[in-house]
Amino acid sequence: MAAVRPVRGTRDYLPADSRRQRFVETTALAIASRYGYGEISTPIFEFTEVFARTLGDTSDIVTKEMYTLADRSGESLTLRPENTAGVVRAVISNGLAQQVPLKYFYRGPMFRYERPQKGRLRQFNQVGIELLGVAEPGGDIECIALAADFLSALGLEAIVNLEINTLGDPDSRRTYTERLVGYLEGRRAQLSEDSRMRLERNPLRVLDSKDEGDRAVVAAAPSIMDSLNETSRSFFAAVRAGLDTLDIRYTINPKLVRGLDYYCHTAFEFTTEALGAQGTVLAGGRYDGLAEQMGGRPLPGIGWAAGVERAIMLVGDHGGAFPDEPRPLAVVPQSPAQDAAAQRLARELRRAGLPVDIGYAGSIGKRLKRANRINARAAIIVGEDELARDRVAVRDLDSGIQEEVALAALADGLVRFL
Ligand code: ATP
Ligand code: MG
Repeated sequence: MAAVRPVRGTRDYLPADSRRQRFVETTALAIASRYGYGEISTPIFEFTEVFARTLGDTSDIVTKEMYTLADRSGESLTLRPENTAGVVRAVISNGLAQQVPLKYFYRGPMFRYERPQKGRLRQFNQVGIELLGVAEPGGDIECIALAADFLSALGLEAIVNLEINTLGDPDSRRTYTERLVGYLEGRRAQLSEDSRMRLERNPLRVLDSKDEGDRAVVAAAPSIMDSLNETSRSFFAAVRAGLDTLDIRYTINPKLVRGLDYYCHTAFEFTTEALGAQGTVLAGGRYDGLAEQMGGRPLPGIGWAAGVERAIMLVGDHGGAFPDEPRPLAVVPQSPAQDAAAQRLARELRRAGLPVDIGYAGSIGKRLKRANRINARAAIIVGEDELARDRVAVRDLDSGIQEEVALAALADGLVRFL
């Protein structure tokens, strides 16, 4: 029955998965907070226009990947494929553009109709930041530093590489696009069908192609570095100098372009060898033209987004570590006669802030077995004799050592197990 399968490219996040997801998200939020970024949360869907106008009608996302639906009033809505457009829309709708700089962190699900594979889902999660109203290279440097600190905090410093490029200002980008088209036109026959289409509509995108044949053609393509005007050149030099000052290592990849239309100047990615084809963990860039394209006043911006599922795969398998799963305490009545007392005690301990599990039925042996199965740290055994003296037995389930503890001192005494 179709209804009991998840939709292709979606998955369930069971408690262990959710814990990892939260860890990645809260790590990102903690680092972003240190830089003064506050959390923003925009709707999961927007008017289709918000994405169609900003991502450009030639981007892969708009042409192939959007989940678009008509709601009951006939409005065309789209599940957000990314969050930058939504954040900029929110800044304009809330009239915040005068209060720059604006510094936002976000997390949440994104939706793209893609071919699912390892590290590629149709519903996936991103964490990201946006810095709005800063036209200076200092903004680019801060964003990249924040990204580097986030990945280091996950323990991934040694397995990711920072690649940077510049797309130049609109003038340089135009000059370069013409040169690139000249080169690619001469090699049209060697290009994939997708890239021949990109060549017509959005030639820079050919540089981003994952097709083997395209890659060979692209390898010898002219470099953007030779098309930069003075403004673009000095902007890029300032970004590089800032990264050097902060000892952030990078390689320059002149073929790196962002998949979206609104980027200029700095583009960057943190990539890894450890994830096969899905090697980009975090990607970002400057998007000075976006707010205007959306109908707002000019508002420079820069930001990045990281794939949470990809980060989780890396932390789990290649670097860093997730925090240990917290271990509960188990309250175990000696016999059914102590059930009520055990229930009361469990609730009291929980209200005192302790994580407490209690079996619902069964003999003391069965309940101790359950305590072991859930990896409880200690068992609080509620027995008739002890109870009569206002005491319980506390068994350290790692060492097996058991001792009697007065009820009045119990909550405090249990803290050492956490
Ligand atoms: P790719 O080249 O892998 O398709 P992209 O350029 O489309 O990536 P961005 O739009 O820059 O990706 O998104 C930023 C990050 O979000 C990516 O680097 C990746 O970690 C993650 N991401 C993007 N699409 C997916 C997806 N379908 N499933 C899981 N993670 C994704
Ligand atoms: Mg993509």
